[in-house]
Amino acid sequence: MNESHKNIVVLGAGESGVGAALLGKAKGYNVFVSDGGAIKSVFKEEMLANDIPFEEKQHTIEKLMQADVLIKSPGIPNASSIIQKCIAAGKKPIGEIEFAAQFSRATFIAITGSNGKTTTTNLIYHVLKKAELDVEMGGNVGTSLARQLLVADRDYFVLELSSFQLEDIQHFRPHIAIILNIVADHLDRYEYKIENYANAKMRITNNQLPSDFLIYNADDPITSKIVAESNITVTKIPFSLNHSLPVGGYLANEKLIIKYKNQLVMSIHDLALKGRHNVQNSLAAGIAGRIVEIRKENIRESLADFQSVEHRLEFVAKVNGISFINDSKATNVNATWYALESMQEPTVWVVGGVDKGNDYDELKALVKDKVKAIVCLGLENQKIIDAFQGVVSEIVETRSAEQAVAEGYRLAKKGETVLLSPACASFDLFENYEDRGRSFKRAVRAL
Ligand code: ADP
Repeated sequence: MNESHKNIVVLGAGESGVGAALLGKAKGYNVFVSDGGAIKSVFKEEMLANDIPFEEKQHTIEKLMQADVLIKSPGIPNASSIIQKCIAAGKKPIGEIEFAAQFSRATFIAITGSNGKTTTTNLIYHVLKKAELDVEMGGNVGTSLARQLLVADRDYFVLELSSFQLEDIQHFRPHIAIILNIVADHLDRYEYKIENYANAKMRITNNQLPSDFLIYNADDPITSKIVAESNITVTKIPFSLNHSLPVGGYLANEKLIIKYKNQLVMSIHDLALKGRHNVQNSLAAGIAGRIVEIRKENIRESLADFQSVEHRLEFVAKVNGISFINDSKATNVNATWYALESMQEPTVWVVGGVDKGNDYDELKALVKDKVKAIVCLGLENQKIIDAFQGVVSEIVETRSAEQAVAEGYRLAKKGETVLLSPACASFDLFENYEDRGRSFKRAVRAL
């Protein structure tokens, strides 16, 4: 395809924006990248090496107006003044997924939800890869789809999609879409209305046909309500931990059962990933595997030998009989709920950071049941102390991963667990959740 007469302007130079710029360039477009903030040096170097002109810390409106195709990064809200100006001038932006997908003949498996996206994306990738299918993963999980396509097109792409990315699709049609759950998160981008956030997630199924599939969590009240109330014609396949289903996936007597075409049964004790949330993720992955006709034995094997993803209930080490677990990615109460729920031994819980409006009441019963001591890891810990005083006998405050690990080690006994599952964002003390998780692991290994 030669698109040399056409101009692409990309707004935002992060992973997806730069990916889109590189793909656009490779497809023969004239590409210009504009970022209102500073651009990371790795991305600048990449654009320079590929002769892609760019600007940073400003948007030159005349340049934006020359766009035949305007691509916006998911971090830029549609309500921002720059996007509103573009729309007023008749230039409706699309996202990187929408742009990149048109250059692919792949079958797309797309995963969204408030929690569990990365885990389930990795799990499905593993199931397909082990079955020797031609598959790659991308999207929110690390490498953009555009960048994957620069390497090669595939038979299958497994894509993690955030609600922000879904806001910017128009025609993108996954053959299999998955909605894992919808809980309050990122509501600042949605006028604090859960319906708006839920509607953004539902966009994943907008272009699906009856021959496509929507796998969804029937136990999640918001997800099941919005799926039931919408007039979509896609084939719907639910999963549930609470009740059996004629078609779909469910949990019964500690067995995971997938009924689609025929029946797959597997003990949950054989699953590589522990915890009820991971039974949900495994059900979703197993159903997807069956839809693409992977053999039952292969699916069972893959769900059993999957290696957990870093920072998601990641086992770090056992020191003098005390287990340390890194769940730094748990940045909201819901994710932490599942982490605590999966704890089998008395737990010292490391929690705190930047709270996005947490309601700790939801955790009280579990904390009472599972947690013997709390180690706060944050600059501002009063809300946590107020919430759990009287529930847990010992609460201490720390301001570094080293201190938190030292306190955890002091408070836990042989056979117990120290769990970092902060329920909060990390940027008061750390660069990001990865930095927090790695600092925790480093401190554990230095014990
Ligand atoms: P996401 O990519 O949606 O942020 P991750 O797979 O990175 O999700 O997991 C984020 C956090 O949520 C982790 O702490 C993990 O233990 C927890 N989690 C994983 N799957 C689920 C699920 N299905 N429901 C609730 N929490 C989950």
